[in-house]
Amino acid sequence: NQVPSVTLNNGVRMPQLGFGVWQIPDDEAAQVVGTALEAGYRSIDTASVYGNEAGTGKALADSGLPREELFVTTKLWNGPSPTWGRDEVLRAFDDSLAKLGLDHVDLYLIHWPRPMRDDFLTIWKTFEEIAADGRARAVGVSNFRPADLERLRAHSALVPAVNQVELHPLFPQRELRAVHAELGIATEAWSPLGQGGELLALPAVTAVADKHGRSAAQVVLRWHVQNGLIAIPKSVTPSRIRENLDVFGFELDADDLAALDALGTSAAARRIGPDPAVFD
Ligand code: NAD
Repeated sequence: NQVPSVTLNNGVRMPQLGFGVWQIPDDEAAQVVGTALEAGYRSIDTASVYGNEAGTGKALADSGLPREELFVTTKLWNGPSPTWGRDEVLRAFDDSLAKLGLDHVDLYLIHWPRPMRDDFLTIWKTFEEIAADGRARAVGVSNFRPADLERLRAHSALVPAVNQVELHPLFPQRELRAVHAELGIATEAWSPLGQGGELLALPAVTAVADKHGRSAAQVVLRWHVQNGLIAIPKSVTPSRIRENLDVFGFELDADDLAALDALGTSAAARRIGPDPAVFD
């Protein structure tokens, strides 16, 4: 298929556009993820807390696609323990693999840093083991701030392959992206469409969309692609699932990119999801 890949810092290649499955109930996930795989997505982003690893795994198996063509991400959740020890992390990882019906994932992420718990260094040590035994082809983090990344760097030689963070034109994370570039961490954007809210209706976005005869969602995803980001839009609507992947047949010019970039410093700019400094 036509989706370009990003080469992670350990040489593993990850599709630049994938499919996110947050808020898709387990009993619908098999069908929705099946639609995404038929449309051409090969990268699927789930998490233990989404409760749909089993449905996702069923879609992967039913697709008949060779395992090496798929890129599966899942994440270690914040609980149930107040803090995570090594054995609990290994058990949670085993549980995710069992639900997915896989013997390895392509990417395993720490879902949130929870700096107030002070346990992500212990978790990361266990992620080193999981990476070393090949049960995750790459390991990374999610929602880590520059200070969290610095703390990891001071304690481990293993640099996260990816940091998956909230990122869209209204919350472009410029500072964090500069830190990633310095450390060799790929930036993955969650809620790349701003959760389909006001972002897609802003005149700055619809003007670029009209100019290209594309949808607002398509020009926002094109902004991600041309910025070298990895994006994982979510939809349960088959036509939108296909539309969101169909962003490789046109290109934004410098004016379009500047118009979308300007949103990041506009009055509308804001975070939509939780703040990792306090989210537990
Ligand atoms: P998103 O930005 O992908 O927006 C999804 C919503 O946008 C849909 O529910 C729909 O309402 C709308 N939409 C989708 N396609 C559209 C189209 N073509 N036209 C108009 N509207 C459209 O938001 P998201 O689901 O929050 O984020 C994507 C994925 O990122 C999640 O499914 C999940 O996998 C991941 N995620 C990770 C974290 C984390 O903490 N690591 C947090 C949130 C989300």
